[in-house]
Amino acid sequence: MNIKAIRSQFPILEEKIHGKPLVYFDNGATTQKPLSVIQRVNDYYSKENANIHRGVHTLSQEATTAYENARNTIQEYLGAKQSHEILFTKGTTDSINLVAFSFGELLNADDEVIISAMEHHSNIVPWQMLCERKGCKLRVIPMNEKGELELDVYDTLLSEKTKLVAVTHISNALGTVNNVEHIIEKAHAVGAKVLIDGAQSIQHIKVNVQDLGCDFYAFSGHKLFGPTGIGVLYGKEEILNQMPPYQGGGDMIKEVTLEKTTYNELPHKFEAGTPNIAGGIGLGTAFEFLNSLNMEDVLKHEQELLNYATEELSKIEGIQFYGEAEEKTSVISFLIDGLHPYDVGTLLDKMGIAVRTGHHCTQPIMDQFGIPGTIRASFALYNTKEEIDLFIAALNRIIPILQD
Ligand code: PMP
Repeated sequence: MNIKAIRSQFPILEEKIHGKPLVYFDNGATTQKPLSVIQRVNDYYSKENANIHRGVHTLSQEATTAYENARNTIQEYLGAKQSHEILFTKGTTDSINLVAFSFGELLNADDEVIISAMEHHSNIVPWQMLCERKGCKLRVIPMNEKGELELDVYDTLLSEKTKLVAVTHISNALGTVNNVEHIIEKAHAVGAKVLIDGAQSIQHIKVNVQDLGCDFYAFSGHKLFGPTGIGVLYGKEEILNQMPPYQGGGDMIKEVTLEKTTYNELPHKFEAGTPNIAGGIGLGTAFEFLNSLNMEDVLKHEQELLNYATEELSKIEGIQFYGEAEEKTSVISFLIDGLHPYDVGTLLDKMGIAVRTGHHCTQPIMDQFGIPGTIRASFALYNTKEEIDLFIAALNRIIPILQD
């Protein structure tokens, strides 16, 4: 992979922070944007801006075509059967809430939902709210000390009562890659549906929703080189058709009288109101960027970064890693004896290095490890070994200062 050529597509990587070259290791929170995405959003607002669907004038028709083409690009990339199985949302959180609310309406008291102990808060709280609303029971797949799900326990949690299993593909806090194929197969065997939280996966591995066989797949555009405020919920047509709408308003209706409303077809039934048109179009361009890459090379490069960083960090006295799963990618969470993660993050920032510190919206993981948070370095395809060297050198300067 020609990293130099890839880096040249990301203008922000030329920026200086506190006079130092930016080393951006906060890709788990959000990724940077290639010029093609920035330019596409700019072009849309400069030359094509209009509201979509039902417009009789040229600009509206052009904007509609661009927006729907983006949906088609995403459908093709994900291998979904139909483009109307791709619903535009605000992001992963919105996608999961859509399922929790709408699929949740089909559940009854005593039905069960299964999540895991390593979920992001956005894949915990909507299910807790659903269970409270409907009287369903929430069950949790436990996690071992290495940060891997205990799938033998999962098998025992499943029963005819299980209606939905919602798990993350890759953990944002630990980097664990879950065996979602196993999770899906076992859930389907008892007739349960499966939602995969893909917020941390599409930017690292090639995902094909039909090969996976999941019923829902949720992700955010901003984590895969696209704009913020836009995301996707993939859902199987037959399930989406059974689900009631999530929100009411314009675009999601077929006919409205003051007494009664009939609903539009997919995908519009789940897309009430004027959507994030520029975001959708920009996300389509982000997928074109992914299409220009060989995702196996991307994964290999990121794996090399992960291994190199782990090796170099291991040389630091008093370092403790969190998340040492056999299958792991792109994320290193750690603490250094006696140092507060916030102090480390603040001093790293002074040296131009962006990492995340805290609980990473995964408080149950932190509780299990008995810590308030970690320092997290998360890599993307444009990161380099040279940046890791700068990171390690910076840590080696910071540690004696903070230990003083
Ligand atoms: N799930 C996971 C695994 C995540 O990493 C994130 C973002 N950190 C989310 C869900 C929520 O994504 P968003 O805030 O973009 O909705």
